[in-house]
Amino acid sequence: MTEQPGRRLLLVHAHPDDESINNGATMARYAAEGARVTLVTCTLGERGEVIPPGLGHLTGAALGEYRLRELTAAMGELGVRDFRQLGGAGRYRDSGMMGIADNDDPDCFWQADVDEAAAHLVEVIREVRPQVLVTYDENGGYGHPDHIQTHRVALRAVELAAEAGVEIAKVYFNRVPRSLAVDAFGRLERDLPGLPFAKSAAVDDVPGVVDDERVTTRIDGTAYAAAKAAAMRAHATQITVAEPYFVLSNELAQPLFTTEYYELVRGEQAGAEETDLFAGTEETR
Ligand SMILES: [Zn+2]
Repeated sequence: MTEQPGRRLLLVHAHPDDESINNGATMARYAAEGARVTLVTCTLGERGEVIPPGLGHLTGAALGEYRLRELTAAMGELGVRDFRQLGGAGRYRDSGMMGIADNDDPDCFWQADVDEAAAHLVEVIREVRPQVLVTYDENGGYGHPDHIQTHRVALRAVELAAEAGVEIAKVYFNRVPRSLAVDAFGRLERDLPGLPFAKSAAVDDVPGVVDDERVTTRIDGTAYAAAKAAAMRAHATQITVAEPYFVLSNELAQPLFTTEYYELVRGEQAGAEETDLFAGTEETR
């Protein structure tokens, strides 16, 4: 394995657990290869629905604290040491699902001033100087207000950092190619009778599903499948894993993808199908 100490990857996510579901294999792989992997999580997920009945009493700040411990355990599984909360732990509160009264909480992330929130992220960017930033698309992958706001804040921070002279070479959105999702759900339907889950989710329940041609980059994380599954298990209030599948609190089974996909949205694509997020950035160290 080649050591890559000059490589710096920044991931920006809404809640603890999103990083492991979307990028767990990618994070584990780059961390193992010696890259600096930095995670910024924008809220503590205080309004997440808790799966284990024994932990159902956890709500609000107590749930946020608990989820921060889950995140810490997950980062241990992935080998990621640098993980932070935007503006410090508890600065922005989880906004809950779209359309509920919690969206109006003045302290929730959905109500945050984008420039002010982005300024916190710019501080991280100026310190870490990542060549690559990963976040969600403009719909936040699936329409959750905190995910949409994460997208806005991340892209604004990229702009503000560039104005301050810190250019991030490549920006990616999390993606899943539609044909791959369709195949995986086909296998899931066949496997379902043998699984501890009653029902399957649908292809469009998976965040970031797009037509295959929009996907620019494939990160093979097969060697890190166990690390990704362990990181997801560490988020036990939110996820139940039965490899190669998992459920969230809605109890609808989904495939657990160990090869992860991306769409390059800023910077230059290095070849027809990239297999490395840093491809082409070496001269911009
Ligand atoms: Zn989330």
